[in-house]
Amino acid sequence: MSSLERRLAAVVGRNRVTTTKTDRLIYGFDAGRGRFLPEAVVYAESAEEVAAVMRLAGELKVPVVPRGAGSGLTGGALAVHGGIVLSLTRMNRILEIDTENLLAVVQPGVVTAELQAQVEKRGLFYPPDPASKEFSTIGGNVAECAGGPRCVKYGVTRDYVLGLEVVTPAGEIIHTGGRTLKNVVGFDLTRLFVGCEGTLGIATEITLRLLPKPEAKKTMLLFFSSIDGAAESVSAIISARIIPATLEFMDRATLACIRGRTEIDLPEECGAALIVEVDGCREWLDGEAARVMAVVAGRDVIGSVVAETEEESERIWQMRRAVSPAVREQAPDCFNEDIVVPRSKIPQMIRRLETLSVESGLPIVNFGHAGDGNIHVYILTDLREAGMEARVDALIEQVFAAAVELRGSISGEHGVGLAKARYLDMELSPDTIAYMRTLKRALDPDNILNPGKIFLRGRDDE
Ligand SMILES: Cc1cc2nc3c(=O)[nH]c(=O)nc-3n(C[C@H](O)[C@H](O)[C@H](O)COP(=O)(O)OP(=O)(O)OC[C@H]3O[C@@H](n4cnc5c(N)ncnc54)[C@H](O)[C@@H]3O)c2cc1C
Repeated sequence: MSSLERRLAAVVGRNRVTTTKTDRLIYGFDAGRGRFLPEAVVYAESAEEVAAVMRLAGELKVPVVPRGAGSGLTGGALAVHGGIVLSLTRMNRILEIDTENLLAVVQPGVVTAELQAQVEKRGLFYPPDPASKEFSTIGGNVAECAGGPRCVKYGVTRDYVLGLEVVTPAGEIIHTGGRTLKNVVGFDLTRLFVGCEGTLGIATEITLRLLPKPEAKKTMLLFFSSIDGAAESVSAIISARIIPATLEFMDRATLACIRGRTEIDLPEECGAALIVEVDGCREWLDGEAARVMAVVAGRDVIGSVVAETEEESERIWQMRRAVSPAVREQAPDCFNEDIVVPRSKIPQMIRRLETLSVESGLPIVNFGHAGDGNIHVYILTDLREAGMEARVDALIEQVFAAAVELRGSISGEHGVGLAKARYLDMELSPDTIAYMRTLKRALDPDNILNPGKIFLRGRDDE
């Protein structure tokens, strides 16, 4: 037994620390591309244990990487400087669902879809819905400020976090926010911790705002002859003061990847598609759907499928969920970037991506959450080809530059982590980055908590 393992076992018990090669390998990757072996994996079961692990790590100057389901796409849960991976998945209890005050109190390891199912049984609704919701944890969602298709109407994870219990890098347990919508006492530390990617503190209890569950929804799949028609329709729908619950788009290349793989017939001449879903009172929905159809009419629409039943709606969403795996099968390697631009700039961004694809000779497939300008850009490639890595790097940089030029962002919902750290200065000024680093240094002077993330530096100079 190594001395680190012995010290950890004294804190959490022998059976909740592992240093076997197999376990370290399992915790050595996430859903992104990096691979880094931790020295030990610890399964915490309480905030007190998390705090004790942090104090021990501080004493030994060993890094700690908090981890939920490991579904992150930017390497946030990877032990890039070794140390301890601290798994929160055993802290997976829904502690309370308060139907009077519309809130839930949960431990960080609760799986997103499980929380949604439990609150929906009580007629309530937790809107943030990352496509990974069947396995991602609420703690990971909070740390990444996860989004999903429903953000256009309902906002992102940060809009639902009322309060947090957080273990600090020094191993203290603090509380932020509370159980009320209004609370202006002191700094808004809740917002500081949401989206900090596990670099400033570890969330050990989360208080979430809930909404009443919408009575019904109506899903429409619209086919366009061109991406311009689809993109213009997005702006026209919002300008008509219609805020759909979801407004998703798929370009021609995306449709080609899923044609024949779904029960829905996708016309060959279709250059783009939108999925528009409206929700609310049952009597009101038909009228709202009719308004959507009236707005898009005359904008290159060449066909539509309007779901009349829950099963028909599910068929449309199955098609949407088939996109990501289908696209990944098109090439040996696939880079999934997650840019966002102001909604009105989507047509420009898509045209720019088409040009970049031609110029680089690399296929790019685009789909995503058009309603909030969030485009998932999949670059298809084969890294076994000589010089390919450099070509892909150059292309990614051009994609990010285009997003920033249009006053967007290089990361809509997947965070910075390790993967985007070297591009941070494309979007943030040196002063802004310096301010963030000052904050990190003040809270975590020895850089114990999740080092090597967000900022591109080694452990010693962060
Ligand atoms: C197929 C697929 C689809 C996806 N779709 C979406 C999508 O639609 N929208 C979206 O936003 N994301 C999406 N993601 C990305 C990912 O699922 C989210 O970022 C999710 O929030 C990560 O949760 P996790 O529990 O897996 O966290 P992990 O990957 O384990 O960790 C992510 C980060 O959070 C930190 N962390 C974890 N738990 C805590 C905690 N309790 N306290 C402090 N820090 C913590 C980690 O250190 C790490 O930096 C997708 C991923 C996949 C694989």
